[in-house]
Amino acid sequence: MGQVSLGSAEIVDQAVRSARAAFESGEWSKRTPAGRKEAMFAWIALLEAHAEELAALDCVDAGKPITECRENDIPAALETLRWHAEAADKVFGKVAPTGPEALGVITKGPIGVVGAVLPWNYPAAIFAFKVGPALAAGNSVIVKPAELTSMSAYLMVKLAHEAGIPESALLLVTGRGEDTGKPLGLHTDVDVVSFTGSTAVGRKFLEYSAQSNLKEVVLELGGKSPQIVFGDYYNLDEVVDNVLESAFLTMGQNCTAGSRLLVEASVKDELLDALMTQLRQWKIGDPADSQTQIGPMIEQAHFEKVLSYIHGASDEGATLIYREADENTFPDSWLVGPTIYADVTPQMSLFQNEVFGPVLAVTTFESEEEAIALANNTAYGLAASVYTSDLRRAQRVAASIKAGTVSVNGYSEGDISAPFGGHKQSGFGGRDNGLEAFDQYTQIKTVWYVN
Ligand code: NAD
Repeated sequence: MGQVSLGSAEIVDQAVRSARAAFESGEWSKRTPAGRKEAMFAWIALLEAHAEELAALDCVDAGKPITECRENDIPAALETLRWHAEAADKVFGKVAPTGPEALGVITKGPIGVVGAVLPWNYPAAIFAFKVGPALAAGNSVIVKPAELTSMSAYLMVKLAHEAGIPESALLLVTGRGEDTGKPLGLHTDVDVVSFTGSTAVGRKFLEYSAQSNLKEVVLELGGKSPQIVFGDYYNLDEVVDNVLESAFLTMGQNCTAGSRLLVEASVKDELLDALMTQLRQWKIGDPADSQTQIGPMIEQAHFEKVLSYIHGASDEGATLIYREADENTFPDSWLVGPTIYADVTPQMSLFQNEVFGPVLAVTTFESEEEAIALANNTAYGLAASVYTSDLRRAQRVAASIKAGTVSVNGYSEGDISAPFGGHKQSGFGGRDNGLEAFDQYTQIKTVWYVN
């Protein structure tokens, strides 16, 4: 497909020096917010003209189904950038409620040099989650995409420069985590690292910060999100569509994947039958085919990890109820067919660990209290869904679930207007999306005028 540079600590240092110089020069940081907005709009227009190419890059790089890239990821990336560009001149400071003897002005300004460290599952979309608000707020941004998916980031940065965004206000460093991500995390002149990725690597960024300059660290990490289905759902087909999309979108390589189905015992059989009937329609195969819904795992090591969870679940005593295709169905590929295990208990690995593959773990419950306890019985807290016709129950359960986003009667991460992030070990330090995203990339300053 092409060559991607393996960035070293020296390359990262050059990028940081350049970003710092740009920030101090004010060529971007001191441009008026409306001016930054205009420059970002010019960039977005170029990105729109290259939307099909961006979709193709994410498809071939990540093996994501082309239809998903075309209809979800790239439109989401563009909408995110547009929304934050539009907000650039609408983020206000405050005036403190002083008496007449003083005037306290509280401003929100850019922090300085931002490192954005990205995962491989939504390459263009998560690029936009970070770069949109960070640039709109006036920072200099260094993007470090996942080594497996650098292509769309490369094109997006190139087009930003063509659109007139200063080269040193938006820089790209590519390479592996240890070679390129670590020096960025340890650099003493980076002010913030906004990280999306695994919980294990998120911990490292906290260490890097502690070992260097106490840079701010924002972590968007993994999940093991529950989908709770009560027996009083009003439309089985809708529940089925949502449960399947939540579990198997992007082959389950999705941080908010609803990978645990908690179903009321009385409707278990009806729901599972309907799920499996519908799942048989899903097309598995070449991600470049517009009909494909399940493409391959991102790389061989990940493919093997997902298979080891599948084999381990059987060993632990879970009941395999659906596996349309096993590793022999598509030899010489990294395709894993959607897989469902029933009788999964909280002690099992499949209940607790993020598989990041197309594997749904089913557990039954008898009461609302039990459903809530099961839902909260993992170290994660990113997202959850609750299906019920009882409004009061929906409110009680949503309030009791420890997760950053809870959807009632659907699967959603909200949209660009709503903050997105996790509770517990799914992350902390800030939110992507919404006006809250600006908090990651701005710092508050008080100027106190004494009369
Ligand atoms: P990862 O943690 O392996 O890698 C993420 C980034 O960190 C990559 O750019 C990688 O090069 C870099 N990295 C890896 N090791 C590093 C190190 N030692 N030092 C510095 N940088 C290092 O994650 P991934 O496999 O790319 O993505 C999958 C994970 O991301 C899953 O856990 C998923 O849940 C999570 N994720 C979370 C969200 C969210 O918003 N909460 C969104 C998407 C993905």
